Amino acid sequence: MAKVRTNKDLCLLCKKNVANATNSHFVPISFVDYVIGKRNREEVYTILPSLDDPILTYFGRSNLKGVSVENEIISVQKEDPLAMDYIFCSECEKRFAIIENEVIYELKEKIRNEKYKNNYLTTIINSDIELKVCKTINSNIFQLFIFSLVWRMNLQYLLETGIELFRKKNEEKLLRTLLNSCLNLNKELIKEHNCEKISFLILSTNRLENPTHNVINPQPFFQNPYCFYIGEYIVFIDFNEFIEVSDFFGMGVFPIIPFINKNHNKPKIVFLSNEKWQIILQHYTNISADIFIEQRVNKLSEVSGFSKDKCHEMIHFKAKKLQNGIDDRFADYFNEAYKYFLNIYSKKNNH
Ligand SMILES: [Zn+2]
Repeated sequence: MAKVRTNKDLCLLCKKNVANATNSHFVPISFVDYVIGKRNREEVYTILPSLDDPILTYFGRSNLKGVSVENEIISVQKEDPLAMDYIFCSECEKRFAIIENEVIYELKEKIRNEKYKNNYLTTIINSDIELKVCKTINSNIFQLFIFSLVWRMNLQYLLETGIELFRKKNEEKLLRTLLNSCLNLNKELIKEHNCEKISFLILSTNRLENPTHNVINPQPFFQNPYCFYIGEYIVFIDFNEFIEVSDFFGMGVFPIIPFINKNHNKPKIVFLSNEKWQIILQHYTNISADIFIEQRVNKLSEVSGFSKDKCHEMIHFKAKKLQNGIDDRFADYFNEAYKYFLNIYSKKNNH
């Protein structure tokens, strides 16, 4: 459940001023507008680890998908899921904006634009992988920008679910104190930081047709490295050493070490072929779907006393029936079917 904050609470970055800013974005809106749609036309799906309200769907005011032909609202319009009131003070908001202004335009517009190709040192590694080193972005500011993104996404997750993504306490604290001590209202005064312990890897793709299926989500199931899906970028961050693994997020053998951002090197971004990009997205979807299904099957099995296989079959069959051939998100029907059976067997148990 989301924690309600008030303007009496302290800012979560500086922990000094009262959190007077309203509508603060966890992920800067200009960074993700490509995937979620322009203002008021947003379309966002957030998958939460909750059995009651697992998929948070948000449509902007002018997004037609939230409105049926009779102009009735068919989808509950919730608050903007990417923003919250009273999390930061207005000064800290401005401190974030300084680094955002330095980085976002580069990552959103320039990096895929021929006109700016001299800003990047591009190396083709093989037919699936291209490395771009950003010559014009200040590496210190770039690192702080990435840290601010993942730190704020962790904060959002914590406020919404009560669960910390950065499992070890000092990791969140390390990021917060680093951001708080380095960020300044004046760009020239943004402090160099020592981040030997933190390294990160950024993946993207050149093809941009709905690149992440509107996913803006931390991937809560990994911690070595932690993984964040943010529109057309995926950020992996590690507080120790990246370890070369044989199947890196479904991509098979993937040479991580040369692409890692560390120790104030110029910013590196790995561009994947569309095929590899799809594999890594599918990997995310599969894991999320598996957990989504497993949670419901386990709960129904516990309540009904039936085997997990039987419960899975029951829910699946009922969901297919409810869906009735409509080309729509199956997860919603699966959840509805789960609730249907849960209701029946909870009542039986109470008699
Ligand atoms: Zn503050």
